[in-house]
Amino acid sequence: MVSVLGSTGSIGVSTLDVIARHPDRFGVYGLAANSSVDTMLEQCRIHKPVYAVMMRESAAQDLQSRLPDDCGTTVLQGEDVLARIVTDPGVDAVMAAIVGAAGLASTLAAAHAGKTVLLANKESLVMAGHLLMEAIHDSGALLLPIDSEHNAIFQCLPATEDARPLKGGVSKVLLTASGGPFRCWSLDQMRDASPDQACAHPNWSMGRKISVDSASLMNKGLEFIEACWIFQLAPKMVDIVVHPQSIIHSMVQYVDGSVLAQMGNPDMRTAIAFGLGWPERIASGVAPLDLIATAQLDFEAPDEARFPCLRLARESVAVGGTAMAVCNAANEIAVDAFLAEDIRFTEIPQVIEKTLEQVSVVEPNALSVVESADKEARRVARETVAGFSRAGRGA
Ligand code: NAD
Ligand code: MG
Repeated sequence: MVSVLGSTGSIGVSTLDVIARHPDRFGVYGLAANSSVDTMLEQCRIHKPVYAVMMRESAAQDLQSRLPDDCGTTVLQGEDVLARIVTDPGVDAVMAAIVGAAGLASTLAAAHAGKTVLLANKESLVMAGHLLMEAIHDSGALLLPIDSEHNAIFQCLPATEDARPLKGGVSKVLLTASGGPFRCWSLDQMRDASPDQACAHPNWSMGRKISVDSASLMNKGLEFIEACWIFQLAPKMVDIVVHPQSIIHSMVQYVDGSVLAQMGNPDMRTAIAFGLGWPERIASGVAPLDLIATAQLDFEAPDEARFPCLRLARESVAVGGTAMAVCNAANEIAVDAFLAEDIRFTEIPQVIEKTLEQVSVVEPNALSVVESADKEARRVARETVAGFSRAGRGA
């Protein structure tokens, strides 16, 4: 039985699409989402989960009143009940696909409960990598990366039966990046970029937050941190390579000169099916890769001058402690402000940098420490955003 957290989002919908292709193999225990009642209602009709959780009270009431009786689904509300659809003994695997820091507590709960954690919510690792990896190790949970790059790296490394990747003979991990919609834009052009332009990713269809992260390359910065945690790598072992076609999802280079790449069409259902089926391969619905039609695979170096978010993520790793949680929280506030058209696209890294300068860093040895760093970073980032907003309006 699988619980899908963030079921109404891009990853959640793709997960349920793969699950629906294998009715004999998977059942849905719990679904959780913020407020999209129409999508949740449809998902309940099709998958008949034991529980459906809505964060917003009005959404839970609405869902309850519209749910047909034959679903047999119990509607619950609020963050506190998320733990139930994650830790109940009937649950084998949890798809952690809530967006942002909101996914941390439930991802950690799944790890502590020893479940198979299908990790899409990269922000939880960025914020609390040490705590999450420790919980996975201590409980014997399986961690299967769903982020396409990390899934590719996992596929290019041998793994033990309990999904622990082996790194013998690895010299580098090569994390590929599409470069996003602004790969060829100047800083001047990016200054006037609109939210819709930032969300128009050339290869992937994703939620708005990760789409903006992909445009700023903060997504690659977060993934750089994610790779260091999942594969227990020193930062110098991870190189970023811009590959505009998004056909190679990442690579592992070995000391003998071999480079193993995982390729496929840019469709998250491949990584999701890999995680759901592991260690077996199951059908995902993704079209086979047509190499002749692809014709060309290009590679270039990332440009940290035009995309300072990459540098900021690297610096956060170097500082260590709660710096990564601060970086993540400031980014979430900055992206929200950009999507609300309160700040410019090029002000996103400025908000993050100013926040990193002002919030002190401590050892993240407990969840409460990470949560207070996150809270303080959000407060400082909001102040910076307010300053930019006033300046933008000429006040
Ligand atoms: P999305 O915005 O499309 O969906 C987010 C989901 O989370 C929705 O179902 C929403 O209702 C739910 N949600 C939001 N806040 C919540 C809360 N407080 N409590 C419970 N549910 C809440 O996002 P997405 O693109 O599906 O991305 C989800 C996660 O997966 C992100 O962490 C993202 O970085 C990661 N990811 C996404 C992709 C992709 O292709 N979309 C690829 C790799 C990793
Ligand atoms: Mg990715």
